[in-house]
Amino acid sequence: MMSKKKVAILGSGIAGLSYAYYLKKYKPDVEFVILESSSKSGGLVFSEITEGCVFEWGPRGVRPNGNGQVVLEMIEELGLWDELVFANDQAKKRYLYHDGKLQVLPHSLRSFMTSPYLGLFLKAFYKDLGAKKIDEDETIAAFVDRHFGASFRALFFDSLVSGVWAGDVTKMSVSAAFPILKKLESKRGSLLRSLIGHKSSISDSKQYPKEFTSKALFSFKKGLQSLTDALNDVLSDSIQHDVAIEKIDFSDQVEIHFEDASICVDELVSTLPAHQLSAFVKPDLARVLDSIFYAPVAVLNLILPKSELSFDGFGFLVPSKEQSVVLGMVANSNTFPSHAAPNKSVYTVMMGGARYSEEDLNAMDLEKEAIAFLNGVFGKSLFIDNQELILMSRAIPQYELGHVEKVRKIASLSPEKLSVLGSYMYGVSLIDIISKSKELAGQSFD
Ligand SMILES: Cc1cc2nc3c(=O)[nH]c(=O)nc-3n(C[C@H](O)[C@H](O)[C@H](O)COP(=O)(O)OP(=O)(O)OC[C@H]3O[C@@H](n4cnc5c(N)ncnc54)[C@H](O)[C@@H]3O)c2cc1C
Repeated sequence: MMSKKKVAILGSGIAGLSYAYYLKKYKPDVEFVILESSSKSGGLVFSEITEGCVFEWGPRGVRPNGNGQVVLEMIEELGLWDELVFANDQAKKRYLYHDGKLQVLPHSLRSFMTSPYLGLFLKAFYKDLGAKKIDEDETIAAFVDRHFGASFRALFFDSLVSGVWAGDVTKMSVSAAFPILKKLESKRGSLLRSLIGHKSSISDSKQYPKEFTSKALFSFKKGLQSLTDALNDVLSDSIQHDVAIEKIDFSDQVEIHFEDASICVDELVSTLPAHQLSAFVKPDLARVLDSIFYAPVAVLNLILPKSELSFDGFGFLVPSKEQSVVLGMVANSNTFPSHAAPNKSVYTVMMGGARYSEEDLNAMDLEKEAIAFLNGVFGKSLFIDNQELILMSRAIPQYELGHVEKVRKIASLSPEKLSVLGSYMYGVSLIDIISKSKELAGQSFD
């Protein structure tokens, strides 16, 4: 009789948990163990209930359309559907804050036609019609400047990249961060021309009705951690918390050493952050892993009396030309009203990002900076019931120019028995991570 294949999965963030979940589903003959250094699962997915309000310290929402349906399907399989909350339609209204005022971004044809940005958009679209195809990778800034112009980039792409990656458009790679833009460009040069007749790929999952997929985002009554908690429960027999790995030997098998024990497995799947995995591999691979920069991000969660602020959208972003440490603010309880206690509102201010070092952020009084900024935006001294701040020194991996090549190198330099997953490989969003886990677990160990 053949013995069962043994696999160790390093890390129990969403990458490790989702990979293990699909492995259990698609490959019941594979025996696996998840090794996690902290005392809880979930990694960056971390929600807390404070005074009856949900504080999200990491991700706060998932898009239900496109590949978001892969996540919805997982949620349904986990029996979590009744815990879901979908975003209020207010969440479709988003703002930019620049030149001393909040400006609403176009979110419908009508708002587009009446937008103060209309002229800028029309000029940008006209420029794009003459754009040429370039095969080489380039920064997001260089790509967007060629297609839409520098003023368009400085407002919209700069803010978008701050909002998703806390990133710097002048350093990030368009091929790694927005592969769809490079793919469209390769068709007809102009992105607008290439969009004609373009069909986005349909996710490999159950397709959900429009009443769900038309919403901007979803979360859970108690925040996104409900998802990682449910995965943790389903996988609990296979998770070891508080482990301290000292060394990993790769030969015919993989031997993982702890202080006073070791285990042997046939295959290893790492979902650790790049700078953590680098301690366990040979110098050539470690060098590539260590070259991936993670931007520091500070998250300030605030509870205000509901009557304190009348703000009607998802939130606002601050373009980097404003030179503020504040990247933006999310009005959580506008999006998910059940995330606030009665008569309260919950807001999150994000600060820092790729333009700052951890030392820069440590040297600032971030709570004071954020509140002074909000007071300036809303033109009043806000009364705040509760505020808590967390500074994450290595929060989001930056897909800088050359990142596609780094991902290729990581795969080619990895020992045969090692597969590498996690947010620095195939996308930072929960959707990208869960979709990739599903694809790879389905193909593994045949
Ligand atoms: C502030 C913020 C907001 C975000 N907002 C969103 C959002 O709204 N929507 C969205 O889709 N995405 C968002 N993201 C991105 C998303 O949350 C992350 O990309 C994703 O959670 C990363 O998951 P992961 O499993 O790759 O890594 P992690 O969550 O970092 O998990 C890695 C795990 O490995 C463990 N580990 C580390 N070292 C060791 C070791 N030596 N041995 C064993 N275990 C170890 C860690 O303890 C951790 O549990 C956000 C990220 C941040 C920081």
